[in-house]
Order: sequence, then structure tokens, then C-alpha cells
Amino acid sequence: MKKSIPLFLTCAALVSFAFVKPDTKTTKQINVVIDAGHGGTDFGATSSSGTEKLIVEQITTKIKFLNKNENIVIHLTRNEDKYISLSDRTAIINNIKPDLVLSLHVNQSANLAKSGMEFYVANESVASEKSILIANALRTKFSQNNTLKSSEVKKAPFFILKKSVAPAVLVELGYMSNLDDREYLINDLEQNKIAATIVAFISELK
Ligand SMILES: [Zn+2]
Repeated sequence: MKKSIPLFLTCAALVSFAFVKPDTKTTKQINVVIDAGHGGTDFGATSSSGTEKLIVEQITTKIKFLNKNENIVIHLTRNEDKYISLSDRTAIINNIKPDLVLSLHVNQSANLAKSGMEFYVANESVASEKSILIANALRTKFSQNNTLKSSEVKKAPFFILKKSVAPAVLVELGYMSNLDDREYLINDLEQNKIAATIVAFISELK
């Protein structure tokens, strides 16, 4: 008797799948990889008030937390302060075969006045055209929702961008070397806003 129940359920499931038309509009699952740059012994951009590796990890955790859309699955290349090589990161990404990769970073410059967000895509990527479209849309979203100014989308042969088979955008969230940007980036409420903008953007992906 015990064994007949699961068997019955299997048959019922097969029958229902045969008659119910899948509604691709509502059931399409979107997989997004959020790649928090650096980690572990690799601190990235540093200042007396924070490190790039920690800022991007905090924002990544917030993105994962804020996503309540069950059709969107957020994957992380790291969820702790751990060093992961660029080739390991791209192996994780290409294994997941996501719809989108967002690699989060913080910039640094000898010119302390330099500030604002930057968006990068790679010409060498197989998904270069789609990456450019996504980067422009994400830039627009940030310019509507967030206070930090954002530059044009730029091209750069960054490893993650080149090697990812999925559309991929690297976002430099601001400059650690600029006082205003730094205060913005380490601020918990601003980090929440950055994460919320990314979650809202992902929710609108088709
Ligand atoms: Zn970085």
C-alpha cells in the first residue's frame, strides 16, 4: 500500500502535464549570477574606512535577501570572504549557464576627484551585443534610482566578461579614492538602495 501512493502520484503528474499547456510567460525562470569581486587575501580597492571586497559582498548579500521573486534565482560566486580565482569564477558561471552575470566592483584612482559609476562589457564576449543592451538599461535604471552619477557604458577585456558565455556586465559602483563615493558606498542605506535597484532591474528581465 505504501508503494502504490507515489506511483499513483507519478501517473497523475504525467497526465496533468500532458493536458496543461505550460505558460512560458509566468513560469520562465531567470538565473542571474552576482559576482562579488575579490575576497579573502585579495582586498581590491582599499581605504581607511572600507575595502572593496567587503562592500561588494555586503551588497551581494542584500541582493540575494531582497529578491522575493520566485521566478528569479540569484546565484553567487562567493557568499563569504574567500579568494576565488577568475577562472574558477567563470567556471562557476558557465556551469550555471545563467541569463545574466553582474560582476560588482569598486573603483580606485590616483585622481581623487574622479567619481561615479562605470559599466563595462567585453567586445570579445560571445554575448557582447546583449551585454551592451543590458548594460545601457542597467545604467538608465541606476540613473533613475540612485544618487551617484553614472558614466557611459565602456568596453574592456575583463576576464569574467570575456570568458562568460552568458551576457555579462561589470559594474564599478563608485570610487573608493573619492571621499563622497566612499561614504556613499559604505553607507548601509545606500547599499540597500543599490541592491534594490539591481533586484528591480533583474525583475524586469524578459
Ligand atoms: Zn575590483
